[in-house]
Amino acid sequence: MFAKRIILILAYSLSAGFSFSVTCAQELILVENQTSSYQIILPENPEVQEIQAAKVLQDYLQRISGASIPVIHDDGEPKVQEILIGKVNRAEVKEVKVEDFGQDGHYIGTKGEKLLIMGGSRKGVIYGVYAFLENYLGCKKYTSKVDHIPSQSTIRLGQIDALEIPVFSFREVFYEDVYDPEFMDWHRLHSFGGRGSSPTEWGYWVHTFHQLLNPEEYGESNPEYFSYYDGKRHAGLIPSWDGKSVQPESQLCLTNPEVLEIVSENLQKAIDQKPEARYWSVSQNDNVNYCQCENCAALDAQYAAFAPEEKMYKTHGSEYPALGMGSMLTFVNKVAERFPDKIISTLAYQYTRVPPRDLVPAKNVNIMLCSIESTRNEPIETGDVEFSEDLQGWGKLTDNILVWDYTIRFSHLVSPFPNLRTLQPNIQFLKQNRVSAVFEQGNIQSGGEFAELRAYLLTKLVNDPEVDIQKEMDDFLLAYYGQAAGHIKAYINLVHDHNQGSTGRKLSIFGSPIQEKDSYLTPELIKAYNLIFDKAEHAVRQEPNHLQRVKSARLPVSYAMLEIEKDISGDQWELFETKEEGRARLPSEVSELLYDFVYHCLRTNVSRLSEWHTPPKEYLEKYPIIKKGE
Ligand SMILES: [Zn+2]
Repeated sequence: MFAKRIILILAYSLSAGFSFSVTCAQELILVENQTSSYQIILPENPEVQEIQAAKVLQDYLQRISGASIPVIHDDGEPKVQEILIGKVNRAEVKEVKVEDFGQDGHYIGTKGEKLLIMGGSRKGVIYGVYAFLENYLGCKKYTSKVDHIPSQSTIRLGQIDALEIPVFSFREVFYEDVYDPEFMDWHRLHSFGGRGSSPTEWGYWVHTFHQLLNPEEYGESNPEYFSYYDGKRHAGLIPSWDGKSVQPESQLCLTNPEVLEIVSENLQKAIDQKPEARYWSVSQNDNVNYCQCENCAALDAQYAAFAPEEKMYKTHGSEYPALGMGSMLTFVNKVAERFPDKIISTLAYQYTRVPPRDLVPAKNVNIMLCSIESTRNEPIETGDVEFSEDLQGWGKLTDNILVWDYTIRFSHLVSPFPNLRTLQPNIQFLKQNRVSAVFEQGNIQSGGEFAELRAYLLTKLVNDPEVDIQKEMDDFLLAYYGQAAGHIKAYINLVHDHNQGSTGRKLSIFGSPIQEKDSYLTPELIKAYNLIFDKAEHAVRQEPNHLQRVKSARLPVSYAMLEIEKDISGDQWELFETKEEGRARLPSEVSELLYDFVYHCLRTNVSRLSEWHTPPKEYLEKYPIIKKGE
């Protein structure tokens, strides 16, 4: 009893006579009835991120409570009630070990009546402020435009002592809306290409052999620098898949010593142009035509984890043994040795995906592993055992792994794709296997099935693979769809419950809604989805923003109906007798659906219906074109 009294008296004397503070050994009152006695303290010579962090905090505290809290430098006399931002000159700050935070870690803590927010060398302190707003003040940022800022005239805080260091060192969620500068800072996101507010650490990202040794420059004079297969060297260029540009037809001959010299020389030139970039990709071109000359084949065989007949991978319709990592990693390790201050990244993709045996990536080599082949109706760990084995193998060789993961149906961006239940187990699986960086490829185009929801869930997951994702989803649905949230959730559950059914088929990122007629797009289910969306639209009929979002969520169902209807009935549609060959007179219920679909796409700025092509207007023009008898 007596000891307690002493503590209370001490607290009282330290708090310079504010009688309420006696109870506040447990509690800070940042704002009371819209006024605050606090000051936000910055270092005398602050860094840019510290200034940004202080201004963000000042802005949000004002928006929440109406209180205006001054931002001042730390050169004045310390006061009892202060919010300390970054490396300020205060005894309380000196006790915290900032050097343990890494680049992006942050610390939020209370000491007496002081609140401390500090962070690692990159943007840690900014992340700290946004984490404080979200975790302690209930602020939310769902999309670049949809947020929740609670209104409260008094802000009380309990004691806080929270250090958070991100699980992955690189976190990119590839969705157009994500690159809003505040969204990125709020959710601690990166961009390899320097989009939004993220300065990039990447000099070259991927598929760089042709940049480092160009077939246009050397193809004719030195064909021996390029892949040997089918009895000759292949040093040419072929049309790119976009039909507009050209790409190399093959790879480099990685055992030719001159190739190493030229690649190193050109890499040095590129680094000189961008010396601040840390990661440099030295990686295969986007084809599987690797060199099978005697020397390259010998290295591939020497380090192969299996014999060619044991394991074959089938991707993009072609079959090839995934055996090319021996010559690749030998080469990349040599390049890395010449650039010890940089991290040399290389792909483990298609023919190089399998980890080698008896060959380890150099310390400054990053392995970029791509899960492009994996099925999406079940978690990768069980759904794609071959990829899982490869990832586990790489995890035993290094922890410098970036996984490039794919999360949508790229061939039909606006069609139902029930893979939401796999997002969390997939990211957890990456973490368990020492993956240190994640690139989650979604839809970089505007629009797409549940684009905002998907971006939000992935954003939460790359920051915390163990997050309560169902709670985050419910929270998002309520904020984003208002009174229709329950209906949207019912739709999501129904479509996921019927994902692939008993078909035994894989859910590919390159599939089509037509092939799902027997699984989650049967006539009965489509009817059920439409009933749900009717109810959802009705629930928010007087809320224009929510209604528009519900209509966007419905677009994939309409698109699936259009695709399936054309596939089933297109042959029977009567053709117009015009110069335009094959243009059908659409049944009125089809044209109505088509016009509604395209109109809403245009109105909500849906830019493409497929990853690389088909803007909505083109879909409208081409839909009625029928090629009979094909
Ligand atoms: Zn070769």
